[in-house]
Amino acid sequence: MRIGQLVNIGFGCIVITTAIIHIFNQINWWVYVVLFSIWLVCVLLGSWFIRLNYFFKSLHSKPNHTEQQVAITFDDGPHSKFTQDVLKLLKTHSAKATFFLIGKHIEENPNVVASILKEGHTIGNHTYSHSTTFGFFSKTRVRKELEKTNALLREQTGKNIQLFRPAFGVTNPNIAHAVKALNLIAIGWNQRSLDTTSLSEDAIFKRITKNLKPGDVILLHDTSEKSVAVLERLLLFLKTKDLKSVTVNQLFQIKAYA
Ligand SMILES: [Zn+2]
Repeated sequence: MRIGQLVNIGFGCIVITTAIIHIFNQINWWVYVVLFSIWLVCVLLGSWFIRLNYFFKSLHSKPNHTEQQVAITFDDGPHSKFTQDVLKLLKTHSAKATFFLIGKHIEENPNVVASILKEGHTIGNHTYSHSTTFGFFSKTRVRKELEKTNALLREQTGKNIQLFRPAFGVTNPNIAHAVKALNLIAIGWNQRSLDTTSLSEDAIFKRITKNLKPGDVILLHDTSEKSVAVLERLLLFLKTKDLKSVTVNQLFQIKAYA
């Protein structure tokens, strides 16, 4: 049972108990407001932090991994320039990675998708629109987004995509429903680089490498010069630590395609 379900059951029991007590004793209305507020905070935290597995389970890392492996992942591509730069670096350092692709970017750069696969990397679904309001989409709309990107990739590559990463890492019951209905495996991360923020290249590199250990999943974006520069330093760093970047399917020993 997911944490979200446990929280709902717990709060349901508390509200029912409070209501029963209310029949015999006066209870102030603010008690209900406080209970609702606490529940709402739980839901918001669960939506925002994918690692809580609040609405559905995602794979974030492989703790106590015995092999010298990490998984570098890239979101928001394919990009006409930066994805190619990333591919060149990965090839130079004999590293493998996973690319979570946005449907509308696949339509703009179909040849880049082919390059990613030719180099032996893995691709996954990262929604069609990557809309900032994705977390508020209806059940049907979420499902259509994921189906559309999977259909595009099936058409272009002949592969049935199984790996999915939610846009912005936001989760909710509607996304949980689509993941289950389409039989997808949700992939999170445990090393968030924040490379799309205004943080400097140095700060991002230090953030990733500070506590990096075997089994970690690193989140980067193949969408900027800064991220490419961080990747180059990261690949050199991995070499000094005798760590190797592999695809998430290799790290977790799962199937990327059905
Ligand atoms: Zn994204």
